[in-house]
Amino acid sequence: MTKKLTLLTLGLIFCLCTGCAVNPITGQEQFMLIPEQQDITIGREYSPEVEKQLGGRIANESLQNYIDSVGRQIARIGHRPDWEYHFVAVEDKSVNAVALPGGYVFVTRGMLQKMKTEAQLAAILAHEMTHIVARDSSAAISRQIGINILLSAVTSEKTPESVLLIADLTRQILDLKYSREQEEVADFGGLDYMVRAGYNPYGAVEVMQMLQDQQRIRPIEFLSTHPSPQNRVEYLTQKIQTDYYRLEDLKVGEEDYRNIVLEQLAD
Ligand SMILES: [Zn+2]
Repeated sequence: MTKKLTLLTLGLIFCLCTGCAVNPITGQEQFMLIPEQQDITIGREYSPEVEKQLGGRIANESLQNYIDSVGRQIARIGHRPDWEYHFVAVEDKSVNAVALPGGYVFVTRGMLQKMKTEAQLAAILAHEMTHIVARDSSAAISRQIGINILLSAVTSEKTPESVLLIADLTRQILDLKYSREQEEVADFGGLDYMVRAGYNPYGAVEVMQMLQDQQRIRPIEFLSTHPSPQNRVEYLTQKIQTDYYRLEDLKVGEEDYRNIVLEQLAD
């Protein structure tokens, strides 16, 4: 047996004995100890505290329905249409978007106010959805926090201590870091999702440019957990020019976005 084959076999045995799952975005095996059901439990149990720490839901049902409908159009064509997704606009003024395992995406008032079109919104939701489907957030939780700590905090009896612990763990969830590779995969995967959902992919480039401009003024929360947007603008533009054409039928949605989001959030 060649050395390469031995390593391959050992790798396969390792994968079979421990937890490996196929990442549907990359098509590759990835190390994953968390059963899918636990993704859903973590999302369900921690989403109320995440929502609270991000300032609560924006009290505007037509805006929430709009964010949700854009998110659902993407979820429908994604790799896991069977999961139950929740797309929520929150009051936080920082420029940010957050994904929780199991199908929860939060986008902040600060981010919503800086975007100009539905295609840009779709780009952010598609990027976050790709992290969820690739289970990047679950993998980051198991590496950076510990899955059992999260689960035991929500399943044990509610005491003042457990409430404090859940709040602290939620802050850690909001600080999760993804690798540069995971971000690139989410950028390309998100681009593919948004085009298949009917959105003009230049929305993704415009969002990166907006974040880059904002970053020059002050640190942007979205970028503190994401690599610099400079070369992302370049590689996204290149990908669009080589892989996508007939863009004229794809939605930009400037007017809808202005009416339903920007005018509602005007200070
Ligand atoms: Zn990301």
